[in-house]
Amino acid sequence: MESWFIAISKRRENLVKNNEQIEWYPEHIKHGRFGDFISEGKDWALSRDRYWGTPLPIWTCTECGHQVCVGSVEELKQLSTNFSEPYDLHKPYVDQLDVRCPECGARMKREEEVIDCWYDSGSAPFAQWHYPMENKRVFEKNFPVDFICEALDQTRGWFYSLLAISTLLFDKPAYKRVLTLGLVLDKDGQKMSKSKRNYVDPSMIFEKEGADALRWYLLSTNAPWMPIRFYEDAVKETLGGFILTLWNSYRFFATYASLDGFNPEKHNVAVEERTSLDRWILSRLQRVTREVKENIERFEVHRATRAIEDFVVEDLSNWYIRRSRKRLWLEEMTNDKAACYSTMYEVFLNLSKLVAPFIPFLSENIYLSIKDNGMPESVHLCDYPEVTKELVDENLEEAMKTVREVVELGRTLRSQVGIKIRYPLSRAVVVCSKKVEDSVKPLVDLVKEEINVKEVIFSRDKKPFQQQVDNKEMVDVESKEGFLLLDVVQTPELIAEGVSREIVRRIQSMRKGLDLAIEDRISTKIMVDNAELRETLEEWKNYIAEETRSKEIEFTAKPEGNLVKSWKLNDTEVTIGITKI
Ligand SMILES: [Zn+2]
Repeated sequence: MESWFIAISKRRENLVKNNEQIEWYPEHIKHGRFGDFISEGKDWALSRDRYWGTPLPIWTCTECGHQVCVGSVEELKQLSTNFSEPYDLHKPYVDQLDVRCPECGARMKREEEVIDCWYDSGSAPFAQWHYPMENKRVFEKNFPVDFICEALDQTRGWFYSLLAISTLLFDKPAYKRVLTLGLVLDKDGQKMSKSKRNYVDPSMIFEKEGADALRWYLLSTNAPWMPIRFYEDAVKETLGGFILTLWNSYRFFATYASLDGFNPEKHNVAVEERTSLDRWILSRLQRVTREVKENIERFEVHRATRAIEDFVVEDLSNWYIRRSRKRLWLEEMTNDKAACYSTMYEVFLNLSKLVAPFIPFLSENIYLSIKDNGMPESVHLCDYPEVTKELVDENLEEAMKTVREVVELGRTLRSQVGIKIRYPLSRAVVVCSKKVEDSVKPLVDLVKEEINVKEVIFSRDKKPFQQQVDNKEMVDVESKEGFLLLDVVQTPELIAEGVSREIVRRIQSMRKGLDLAIEDRISTKIMVDNAELRETLEEWKNYIAEETRSKEIEFTAKPEGNLVKSWKLNDTEVTIGITKI
């Protein structure tokens, strides 16, 4: 069968040369899959034997055989004797035109084929502007475009047709950078198809898990050019993991800030007057901002979103907010409380902007509820956050990292010997260099509270404690910096303190069980089936009373009250009865 071709082979070198100017993501496509294809430079079989499509604009004279390739409506108008407005250039109308041969005046007949529709796709950059008949300046200003994006299979489709046509017409690439997307697959890695019915209806996911969860899942799972398995449970996990953690963290801030009438201007505390925990989270925010910006510049969206996820889940929720809860319990607006609010306010304001391209709905919701009047009316009208260099404190971040590693190891040691975190231990020994000691020391209270020890000792050497390790009075674990040792000898005093904490927690849940308001007072009676322990607990009576809003604590053999419950705490039978008074 005869066909019309574009002699691409004559411009092969230009194709290769113009491809050199394009940034490919991932890079290997440039000289691999795509580069190989264009260096073959096969001629483009342009014509199609179909009815639908752009008619091939080539007319042949029925008498002398002269051929004309018509380049514009104006030219067609000149050649035709019956051209009339309004006109339609599609079939069948175009073939009803009486076109005359410019050489001999005889009738000309259009070649019957239509054009390969990939030619249309490659013409998009100028055809959308009706260039060169109109919009010359707009086109020239926007050509080549900054960025295009389509699936990997377009290396022989759109990516090629755009480059081929722009090379023929302008000897330039049509795009400066191109992101090739991987395919979306089903749970088992199969391509989704209608016949197999293995596809997920996105509108169902929008309803159940929300559009933000779906976007975050797709953006964070894999590099954009890698295939992604897509199924509902995966999106559900994203919702429960990242999305709800962000939302609950924000709700925590919003609820307390509104109870306390926090006003970001009035209660602002200068950064240098805030705690190291505050300065740490602000520094982390700068770092994550930089990471996100660097990664999205390279289209490594998965790395950008993962950096945000780590920040929100690990740093903000699991460390900063958890460590700050107590600061907000005080009733009056202390300087420390204001510092905490100011910090959270700044974090959430910046975070809402940072996540805006990825989760547009939740980010807008957060932004709208904390923005003040002078700010843009939508998060999507804000500038993307900049890194504030003055807030970056690398030493502090490094120290906090060590603290968190020590805490993690401390928890591991505790679970190895089976001593719950509520039961205090006398001491932990951090074996490390002087340098690490100096950086961690200002944060040592965090270590003490997190692993619940009375004292943290720093040492250059493990030897002085080896005897206790051998006697099983201490347990040890190797750390990045050296060693962590934990004194695991539980004295009666330490046990009593732990039990008192357990008792407080039980009474608080009993108060909830009785649906008591925070200000309601109770009378509390406790039976402890261990005389020695009960004796030691006497010292903790005031503590228990204060924490549980009990008017009095009475140790008795048979507690009674509105609610009576029993537990086994540290191998001792404990019964508690509470009464509203
Ligand atoms: Zn002719």
